[in-house]
Amino acid sequence: MDHDRDGQDALRVALDDVRRLLTGLRLGGLEGWIRPLGGDAPADAPQAAVPPAEDLQCVPDREVLEEEVSPLLPGPPPGGEAEAASEPEPPPQPGADPAAALEAIREDLGDCTRCRLHIERGLLVFGEGSPRASLVFVGEGPGFEEDRQGRPFVGKAGKLLEKMIHALGLWREGVYICNVVKCRPPKNRTPSPDEIAVCSPFLLRQLEAIRPQVICALGACAAQTLLESSQPISAIRKNIHRWRGIPLAATYHPAYLLRNPAQKAAVWKDLLEVRKFLI
Ligand code: SF4
Repeated sequence: MDHDRDGQDALRVALDDVRRLLTGLRLGGLEGWIRPLGGDAPADAPQAAVPPAEDLQCVPDREVLEEEVSPLLPGPPPGGEAEAASEPEPPPQPGADPAAALEAIREDLGDCTRCRLHIERGLLVFGEGSPRASLVFVGEGPGFEEDRQGRPFVGKAGKLLEKMIHALGLWREGVYICNVVKCRPPKNRTPSPDEIAVCSPFLLRQLEAIRPQVICALGACAAQTLLESSQPISAIRKNIHRWRGIPLAATYHPAYLLRNPAQKAAVWKDLLEVRKFLI
């Protein structure tokens, strides 16, 4: 009967979906601590803990945090506080030629000296990945290794980000990865509000060029910048937001995760939210 066949087809699709996810987890090396879909977490899996005070602060893409900093923004801009998405909106549509648009943005950026971060940078880190990515990750700024190689997320935090990407059943080359600021702040300090103000328009143009299905902000700096919010990442990550009509999820920065593995369960929960927009 058609009804039975429809049910079998649906079951087959669901099983394929689960198989694809498990493959991603295996490839990502995330087995063991990730809560299976619809199941209980392994006995030894870390539990999401109450985020420490550092959660309230920007966490850059770097291997070592040398200093603690105050929150990124002094206060919420008028009408700019992060709000959860309420009304469903039509799916975002990429531009006609996102690759050409990204090239044009890179040309405009040039050998940028618009802010003081250019003084001590090695290489400018524009971003990389698929111009037609359905998912864009946004971090804070380049760290030591990124500054050396001119590529985003290539250090230890980058390796962990790749595991997160694999856990979603995707590959690094299939997503787009960039940062709020394109040059490494000296001594890995947090970029200042004026540096972010000068550089972030290029990030916004990158996102407009790609217009992915979903944006994942990594850490407080990216989330606060895109949402013009001063809320801590622990609060922002609880909801799906919208950036110019595109769903935006936020989670902890991989560099923070490296030092706080107890938050892996929380990050996995956030990734499941991201994944809903990729199916
Ligand atoms: S951080 Fe951005 S605005 Fe500042 S120099 Fe680098 S590319 Fe230019």
